[in-house]
Amino acid sequence: MNRDFNLERLVRPNVLKMKPYSSARDEYKTDGRKMTFLDANENPFDNGVNRYPDPQQGKVKEVLASQKGLSTAQILLGNGSDEVLDLIFRGFCRPQIDNVITLPPTYGMYKVLAGLNEVEDREVVLKQDFQPDVDSILQKVDDQTKIIFLCSPNNPTGNSFSETSVERILKNFNGLVVIDEAYIDFSAERSWLERLQEFPNLVITQTLSKAYGQAGIRLGSCYASEEIIKILNKIKPPYNVNELTQKKAMARLENPGVVEKEVELILQEREKLRTHLSKMTFVKEIFPSDANFLLVRVDDANKKYEELLRAGVVVRNRSSQELCENTLRFTVGTPEENNQLLEILKQL
Ligand SMILES: *Cc1c(COP(=O)(O)O)cnc(C)c1O
Repeated sequence: MNRDFNLERLVRPNVLKMKPYSSARDEYKTDGRKMTFLDANENPFDNGVNRYPDPQQGKVKEVLASQKGLSTAQILLGNGSDEVLDLIFRGFCRPQIDNVITLPPTYGMYKVLAGLNEVEDREVVLKQDFQPDVDSILQKVDDQTKIIFLCSPNNPTGNSFSETSVERILKNFNGLVVIDEAYIDFSAERSWLERLQEFPNLVITQTLSKAYGQAGIRLGSCYASEEIIKILNKIKPPYNVNELTQKKAMARLENPGVVEKEVELILQEREKLRTHLSKMTFVKEIFPSDANFLLVRVDDANKKYEELLRAGVVVRNRSSQELCENTLRFTVGTPEENNQLLEILKQL
């Protein structure tokens, strides 16, 4: 347990003090009766979206709460994880004063959001095996360090961080530890959600953009203690998740079988790609993956990237990132797309 964790000291003082905007639909509590809504200056003629959406996304949260084994008060939803991550920055980091720690090579948005919010980003490069360098991370912490971002499974390396490393960070740091689990549904490792109650400083983010196949609707989720969620709720835009998104998300979440089947096929295809790629002479190394992509070291990544583009296939060139010289990141596509990729690569 993290004895020194003190949420009131961690939150930005202005956020602690402020009163949130109270929307028309926040003030009205339903008792199930059919009501006439003359409170929010909406156009009264029904077209499916003429009313403001539920600001608390009650239905979506109920499904998520039951699937994840949490209470709805432990969930915050946002316009993609990107909004959720931004809210975490704004709730806890004072511009020009506080700092966060990130572990490159990793997801680019932590750095962008740190820059946007004028928060110092202290980078601690992963070890050669792509695991966190826990001693160096803890050495970088000072009184102004508010958040450590851990992306597990990590993008672009694909691996999960070891449970012992993450646990050491959680136990020895009294700021927030945000674990970005965008790829958790592809992983053989268990989600940190199972241990949420153990750590008052643990914040987990997930998304419907990857395994759930809904990148277009923009729905990200954040799971943490009720106290942390209360703070983020206070600063979120009142109607940050639109009606169409809430409806589409419900339809998908209520059919977990479909998602499971697709994930299974993607994982099969990932291993098919690995097998075939490993036989190609220009492939130097294929890194282990707990996600729906493979990071592959090749002989000349820039050249291979350009050649693939010319053949009509777009992959991600990650060569400019630390520890990722000459690497390409291949997202697993449909069986047909993967065959196309392999055919083209064979002919290069
Ligand atoms: C793709 C991805 C996300 C998803 O962000 P959304 O805004 O929810 O689409 C979050 N974190 C990581 C590490 C990702 O790779």
